[in-house]
Amino acid sequence: MTSLPQQGAPWSDLEARMRELAQGDANWRDGRTGMYVFNAGEELERVQKAAYAMFSAENGLGPAAFPSLAQMEREVVGSGLSLLNAPPGAAGSMTSGGTDSIFLAIKAARDHARAKRGLSTNLNIVAPHTVHPAFDKACMVMDIELRRISVKGHLADVEAMGAACDANTLMLVGSAPCFPFGLIDPIEELGELAESKGVWLHVDACVGGYIAPFVRMNGANLPPFDFGVPGVWSISADLHKYGYASKGASTVFFRSEGLREFMTFDAGPWPLGRMITPTLSGTRPGGAIAAAWAVMNHLGVDGYREKQRAVTEARAKIEAGVTKLGFQVLGRPQLGIIAFAHPEVDAFQLYAQMYKRGWHTAALVEPHALHLMLSPKHNEVAGQYLADLEASLREFTNEALAPKYAG
Ligand SMILES: *Cc1c(COP(=O)(O)O)cnc(C)c1O
Repeated sequence: MTSLPQQGAPWSDLEARMRELAQGDANWRDGRTGMYVFNAGEELERVQKAAYAMFSAENGLGPAAFPSLAQMEREVVGSGLSLLNAPPGAAGSMTSGGTDSIFLAIKAARDHARAKRGLSTNLNIVAPHTVHPAFDKACMVMDIELRRISVKGHLADVEAMGAACDANTLMLVGSAPCFPFGLIDPIEELGELAESKGVWLHVDACVGGYIAPFVRMNGANLPPFDFGVPGVWSISADLHKYGYASKGASTVFFRSEGLREFMTFDAGPWPLGRMITPTLSGTRPGGAIAAAWAVMNHLGVDGYREKQRAVTEARAKIEAGVTKLGFQVLGRPQLGIIAFAHPEVDAFQLYAQMYKRGWHTAALVEPHALHLMLSPKHNEVAGQYLADLEASLREFTNEALAPKYAG
């Protein structure tokens, strides 16, 4: 077991040791990861790091002591709200990540249901089977039942979800997009269902909130998924994904300040009186707020459009390439995630081959499929990926099949 060294070491030694440790890590700078890291290039990495370092000691818990952070958070939240078509009076907060944002949206919905609908116990949330396990976690902690409803054509089955609602349903959920398939659920239909039932609709746009608006600006015909749909009451959107911010940054948005108030914690009294905090956190990392602010203002709308164009171009190349290799793409992805399966070769065998070739990606179990979450960097390496995938496929396809994939 390790223990704290008696004598400290100089930074130069530690830096060298840390570089050595990192040798065994996934080679994300070369675009070899299809998950975990969002690689938008070295310049953005420099901006992130410099901004993070500038405010790494400051604490967002104290907006009066650090009005700088309060101002940056307001601007980040304002930018997010405007990208997601929020109406006047909408509100939001920065959080530490998607799980945190989802947790807080559910907390707000629960407290709203208690205050406005008189609900108390045996509460449930109705969601498509494809929603992120963050919903399970939040429901475990808050003692809420999560009803995962089978999807239809990989998308939320609105009719089945409606049938699963009862008087204790506090929230409906749709993803934009869901993580497994990268597909946007029919949010407009879910909005109508939520309105007809008088239930809160949350859109989990953790992995889509900061890419979809720009993909739409770039000309794609995306279905409505944001506050433009009247039934949508809250949205989670991660800055540390397609917002390209440093890790530890997400946003949670509400249709009105009145709804956001249900998220607030008013705790105590204790010897310091009451502690009123907007989110679950006490200490809030200044670095994460500052890095998000700096990256957003460094890119601007034009910069994001360019980065997100690289992502969708990479996806289109991969989609065309894997289709040519005989794979079937699951659904019709429009953003940065794509999943695909081969009719003859199991995805797990291919996954292992690709792993040997240095690719750290994900795989689905329902059904077995390869999964990629693409970054701008992948637009440069899509060809390499496809070449390695073809070579991996050849390891399994017999000679009779091989010519079919040669083309
Ligand atoms: C990533 C993700 C989450 C969870 O976000 P974390 O930042 O990893 O906690 C939730 N929902 C979706 C759709 C996601 O892609």
